[in-house]
Amino acid sequence: MTIKGIGTRGLAAGRAFMKPDVHMDVIFCGDATAAFKEAYDAVHADLEELAEKEDVFAAHLEMLEDPMLSESIEAFLGEDMPPVAAVQAACEQVCGMSEDTDDEYLRARVDDVRDVCRRLERKLCGDVFTWGDMEPGSVVVADELLPSDTAEMDMSKVSAFVTHRGSRTSHVCIIAGNHGVPVVVGTDISGITKGDVLLVDAYAGEVIVCPTPQQMKDFEARLDMEESSLGEVYEHRFEPAVTREGKKIPVFANAGNIGEVVSAMEAGADGIGLFRTEFVFMLSNQLPSESIQFETYRDAVLACKGKPLTIRTLDIGGDKALPYMDMPKEENPFLGLRGIRFSLAHPEIMCPQLRAILRASVFGPVRIMFPMVDTVEELSQALACLDECKLQLTQEGISFDRDIEVGIMIETPAAVIMADKLAQQCSFFSIGTNDLTQYIMAADRGNASVSYLYNALSQPVARAVAMTIDAAHRAGIRVAMCGELASDLNATALLLGLGLDAFSVASPAVPSVKENIRK
Ligand code: PEP
Ligand code: MG
Repeated sequence: MTIKGIGTRGLAAGRAFMKPDVHMDVIFCGDATAAFKEAYDAVHADLEELAEKEDVFAAHLEMLEDPMLSESIEAFLGEDMPPVAAVQAACEQVCGMSEDTDDEYLRARVDDVRDVCRRLERKLCGDVFTWGDMEPGSVVVADELLPSDTAEMDMSKVSAFVTHRGSRTSHVCIIAGNHGVPVVVGTDISGITKGDVLLVDAYAGEVIVCPTPQQMKDFEARLDMEESSLGEVYEHRFEPAVTREGKKIPVFANAGNIGEVVSAMEAGADGIGLFRTEFVFMLSNQLPSESIQFETYRDAVLACKGKPLTIRTLDIGGDKALPYMDMPKEENPFLGLRGIRFSLAHPEIMCPQLRAILRASVFGPVRIMFPMVDTVEELSQALACLDECKLQLTQEGISFDRDIEVGIMIETPAAVIMADKLAQQCSFFSIGTNDLTQYIMAADRGNASVSYLYNALSQPVARAVAMTIDAAHRAGIRVAMCGELASDLNATALLLGLGLDAFSVASPAVPSVKENIRK
């Protein structure tokens, strides 16, 4: 049987490891309140241990301890509901209340509530499931994967992800891409059972379930071919990517933490073309101070070993929330206060971040990049804030790179249309096709039902890319691309043809994108 979905890239074969859905009809006899108390204590102990390693679990622990959740569960238990059903009902109640409230903190915690409730349900079902049971080479099959799933699983044991929900540019897919794990999302997983052999072709967005011997043989031949060509390509990863016409094209990598910067350098990246700072903010329980940010950015600069590090200022809003910030409820968060708009509205967050980046710039080449810029006025305001930070540092006697380069992401139609004017005020562009595609096509990047429109290689998006590059080149500035399209080997020739000057891709894609440029 072959099932279809939307794929990222790569081939993988392995046995299905199912992340189970927990069902309400689990048979239960005994003292429901005592069973819940036992599950609560066990989950509490697990989370306490996990919280020492990752801040995200400290947030889950806080949510578990929140009386709103436990009181709701106890109320359902009081109505003689079985414990798993009570947890699920309480979960829906709390999430429903949180989604409807004006309290941004609560709304941002919906995913945490769901995560904590899934843990309680699993404990109540005898904790038959843990990621630790996964064998090496597993294909993880799930209705949906949450960021905490990827944080908890040993990614070295994962050969692929196959999920029903999610999108190619979701957070989980971006993490998988950074680990070189192929993903197929939007598939009907109902015909897959634990241990089934799965052949995952993420290029084609196809999964063969329980293949015939012939299908197995053909796939193994493709895997061998891919492995040997990748092996060869990998050997040349540190060599520059020079086109046949003799133009040297830097191939940078995208990263969100120091570990990813280190992997990028090992993969042969010519630098970091996109350092997503929101992960520094999201994995914390409170706003990271200027000095904590400075240390993180400095360590990232040092890990780049003299190669450039492009630090993108906070790109919060849309689907990325800061649980500890009281952000007003928005009807259309992707059209709301996100990226540079959020930073300009919060100088108390923007200034310490810019100061931290400037301070890190003495440790190696750093570039600053502003996300979601729509207008020249926004860019002018951001530059004014940067100038103010430079002045403060100068007055305080703190050194920084006075010639630090500043660029912007081009990820909205307005920015494409105004690219000629924006190019007068900055030294580089980086095209963010993940967002540009959703805004050009008016198709949510996370919504599987409009994914037929969400195509970064479609003509409207390609024309927007071409217009941006032309405007930038007329103004004499360079253009990189850091959206997922840059990693797509089917797009390399087109992007070079349009005049793209640099690529910024998921680390595992660096050697093959370099090789493709050389062809
Ligand atoms: C993009 O929009 O293409 C991009 C790189 O930014 P992000 O995926 O972080 O929104
Ligand atoms: Mg973006």
